[in-house]
Amino acid sequence: MRESQLKIHSENILPIIKKWLYSDREIFLRELISNASDAIQKLKILRDSGATKGGDAEYKIAVSIDKTKKTVTISDTGIGMTEAEVEKYIAQIAFSGAEEFFSRYKDSDKEAIIGHFGLGFFSAYMVAAKVELDTLSHEENAKPVSWSCDGSSTYSIGAGQREKVGTDIVLHLDKESEEFLEEGKIKELLNRYARFFSVPIELNGQPLGNGDPLWMRAPSSCTDQDYLAFYRKLFPTDPDPMFWIHLNVDYPFKLQGILYFPKHGGPQYDLKDTAIQLFCNRVFVSDQCRDILPPYLMMLRGAIDSPDIPLNVSRSSLQVDKNVRQLSAHISKKISDRLSTLYKMEKERYQEIWGEIEGVVKLGILQDEKFYEKAKEFLIWKKDDGAWTTIPEMTDKGSEKKIFYSTEYQRGAPIFESYRAKGIEIVMANSAIDIPLINYLEEKQVAKFQRIDGSLDDCLLDPTRERTTLDADGKTYASRLARFIGSAIDLPEIEVEAKSLANDALPALLVLDEQKWRIRDYFAMQRMEMGELLTKKTLVVNTNNKLIQTIERLQEKHHEVAREMSKSVYGLALLSQREVDPKKFEEVVSQQTQVLEKLSSLLV
Ligand code: ADP
Repeated sequence: MRESQLKIHSENILPIIKKWLYSDREIFLRELISNASDAIQKLKILRDSGATKGGDAEYKIAVSIDKTKKTVTISDTGIGMTEAEVEKYIAQIAFSGAEEFFSRYKDSDKEAIIGHFGLGFFSAYMVAAKVELDTLSHEENAKPVSWSCDGSSTYSIGAGQREKVGTDIVLHLDKESEEFLEEGKIKELLNRYARFFSVPIELNGQPLGNGDPLWMRAPSSCTDQDYLAFYRKLFPTDPDPMFWIHLNVDYPFKLQGILYFPKHGGPQYDLKDTAIQLFCNRVFVSDQCRDILPPYLMMLRGAIDSPDIPLNVSRSSLQVDKNVRQLSAHISKKISDRLSTLYKMEKERYQEIWGEIEGVVKLGILQDEKFYEKAKEFLIWKKDDGAWTTIPEMTDKGSEKKIFYSTEYQRGAPIFESYRAKGIEIVMANSAIDIPLINYLEEKQVAKFQRIDGSLDDCLLDPTRERTTLDADGKTYASRLARFIGSAIDLPEIEVEAKSLANDALPALLVLDEQKWRIRDYFAMQRMEMGELLTKKTLVVNTNNKLIQTIERLQEKHHEVAREMSKSVYGLALLSQREVDPKKFEEVVSQQTQVLEKLSSLLV
């Protein structure tokens, strides 16, 4: 054994790394088993090509825990290292890397740096007070080498004990890391990081049951059952997904993976926690793909494996990385292709599952121009009668490209029924995302949308019965009536107009300007208070309705009753259009009661 000095200037770099990386301690295991797996792959290649006769074909990684000695050992039957290689790869490179990293990146994102600077091996010091390495190279006549270092800048190197080609790494855990002596903990980590390793892995002599991930197989050889089984493996508590896309790209970057469209019935997941697991050469890296995929793709679940995603650079540079941009463009194209085929080939099924996929389609349209170009053909809408339609279908019918929309909430309301009675189709826009979507489609000049109560559309009027004769003051019947009812209601936010409506049964309608509806819906979505401007509405009273006509007739003789009845008409409009502020519900009901009292007192 001889002692040697680590060739770095900073004396105590390891304690600093250790402290600095402390919060991500668990990744030491990912780094060490990845090194072990790499070493095995290298040996495999050399043996298969006949370049070496060293080593044997029993490729495996064995992890063992010794509770008494407080050690965790990672052994592999890989390529091994000669003394010169230990010096070169372990002792020098890693430490010079550490120094460079430390001087340049001390303020950056820590998890992103590991690996990039050859710190992989040294992540062992996040949990170990001392690391020993015992290795035998595959080279002919190689001798085993032992190396050990307690984290100070001195290490010892000398003759090792290993008889078979490969490497043992022994971690003497420090006091704070004794949790890693628990088999359950190590098992959990191995399952997380190495579930899809090609090399068999053992823990304390027991095989782990890792194996080839389905994404490695040719799509043509995978059955539906394979895809479902694989999904259950990734997300054991979820209901089965609806359909999936198998990604397999070689050029211009390498990418494999399977993305599933989940059923929303499953455990609720937050959009912030992505459910796409990211692998790099089958090593689990992260389930945080936020910087790699646009939000609408993160509604999907599954796994993607790409060695070309620069996982180890800082987050901000990820978004501008060319590979990352191409990768997300590719995935998005695959998804729009799949949806388009599904829509064309299995229309009924597509309509059936629309509720589960509309979020992806609509967000995709809003977030990605290219996706929109494809998606406009499979963006579907449900109509008031339950049938399905598309925008081109609706606008083809020559309705001046104006599409009336409403929500399920308004179904049955007199205004809703007035449109239906006229045979006008209404598109149901029930989800919160529909308003921004409608705005977007209008910007694209695809169609003009109008909420059914967004203005009094001409189709609801009956111009033949308009009362246009002027009285002595030069006023029409309609304007006099409007003035009377308006003064009775006496609310600054309500303006009253009297019109000749086609539907006689309807006493009055509340109308809010289309743009205001949209702003109002937006405010509601954001849970913001609405300004006064947005609460201003128009109450259109129907000059053809019996109740309204009676109010007009009672004006002179029973002035007070007519005023109460006017308020009542407003209350009924609020109720029928589901516009009553819950806090004012009692007020509206008690006002209706008062009217009944007043009216009935006239009869006794
Ligand atoms: P990286 O893996 O990113 O190159 P590491 O610090 O993890 O950085 O490892 C440095 C080098 O040490 C590796 O590239 C490899 O040549 C060598 N090495 C590490 N672990 C092993 C192992 N188990 N068997 C053989 N060589 C290894």
